[in-house]
Amino acid sequence: MKRLNLLGNTVSDLENLMLSFGEKRYQGRRLFKWLYQSLQHDFSRMTDLSQELREVLAERYTFAGLEPVNSARSVDGTEKFLFRLSDEAVIESVLIPDGEKRTACISSQAGCALACSFCSTGQMGFKRNLIPGEIIGQLLFLRERYGRGAFHNIVFMGMGEPLLNYDNMVKAIEIISSEIGLSVSARKITVSTVGIVPGIYQLADSGLKVNLAVSLHAATDEKRRKTMPIANKFGVRELAEAAGYFAGKRKKRVTFEYLLIGGYNDSRQDAIDLSRVIQGIPCKINVILYNPVTGLPYWRPIRDEVDYFTGILYPRAPAVTIRKSRGLDIAAACGQLAGKYIQN
Ligand code: SF4
Repeated sequence: MKRLNLLGNTVSDLENLMLSFGEKRYQGRRLFKWLYQSLQHDFSRMTDLSQELREVLAERYTFAGLEPVNSARSVDGTEKFLFRLSDEAVIESVLIPDGEKRTACISSQAGCALACSFCSTGQMGFKRNLIPGEIIGQLLFLRERYGRGAFHNIVFMGMGEPLLNYDNMVKAIEIISSEIGLSVSARKITVSTVGIVPGIYQLADSGLKVNLAVSLHAATDEKRRKTMPIANKFGVRELAEAAGYFAGKRKKRVTFEYLLIGGYNDSRQDAIDLSRVIQGIPCKINVILYNPVTGLPYWRPIRDEVDYFTGILYPRAPAVTIRKSRGLDIAAACGQLAGKYIQN
C-alpha cells in the first residue's frame, strides 16, 4: 500500500484524521507538534501517542521532506538550494545572511507565468503551483540542516507569484506561524507580489499579520509594461490604491521593491515618478541593485547611478533603503540556479 505523505497538513487536517480513526481530536495536535516542532518523523518515537495509533500511522503514512539536488554557497554567506520535486519540477530556496540573522527566501510556484523580462524564472514559463507541503518542505529542510536558528525571517520572494497560489500559501503560513508548528511569527513573514491587485485586497482582509512587499520596479504604466506583462492587467494607480488599503487595514507599512536597472529605470524622472506614486501611502522603498542575468539586455547600475537616483528620492519619500544584492557569484537571483540546472 502506498503511504500518504502528511507533510503540509495543518492542525485541523490532523485533528480530522484522528477523529476519522475514532481517536480524540487532541491527538492531532500532538502529531502536528511532533512533525513540525520536534522534527520527529519516525511515528514509533511519538511517545505520547498510543502504541496502536503509532502502528497505524507508520503503516499508512509517511512524512517525506525535500532534499536538494544542487546547492551553492556565496563568498558573502548566501546559500542557494535547488530541489527537484516528485514530478521533476525544480524550485529554489535561498538563505540570506544579514548580520546575526538570516532570511529564508522561498518559492511558491515551480516556474512562473508572469514572464517579467528581467527575471530568470520568468523565462522558464509556468510549471505548476506548489502544494503546502512543498512550500513548508523548503523551510523544514533548512531547520533540519541548521537547527531552530536557521532563519529568522521568511520572504515569499523565490520562484513564482505567491498571490496566484493564494490558498496553498495561506495554508503554509498557518503551519509556519503556528506556535506548535514552525513557530515563526507572521510578522516575520513577507509576501512579495508583482501586483496582483485582488490578491492584495484578499490578503489585507484575511487577518493574517504578514507583511506586504510590492515589486513596483517602475512608476509609470508605460515603463512597467515594457518589462512586466502583469502591468497590462493592473495599472500603477490601482496597485498603489491596493497597497494603501493594505497599509491602512493592517496598520503596517508596505514595502515597495524597486529593482534598479542600469539605463532603464534610474533617471531623475523615474525617481520623481516613483515619489509621486507612493505619496500618502505608509511605506518604505527598497532599492535593489539588479543581479545581471546571462542573455538579458540589462546591467547592474554603477555606484554613481545609484547615488544619483536615491539622492533625488530621499527628500521625497518617507523611507528609502538600498539592498545589496547577495550571492552574485552563485547566481542567487530568483530562478537563476534552476535556469542553469535546466540548461545543463
Ligand atoms: S519576477 Fe516574480 S512574478 Fe515576475 S516572472 Fe519572476 S517570479 Fe514571476
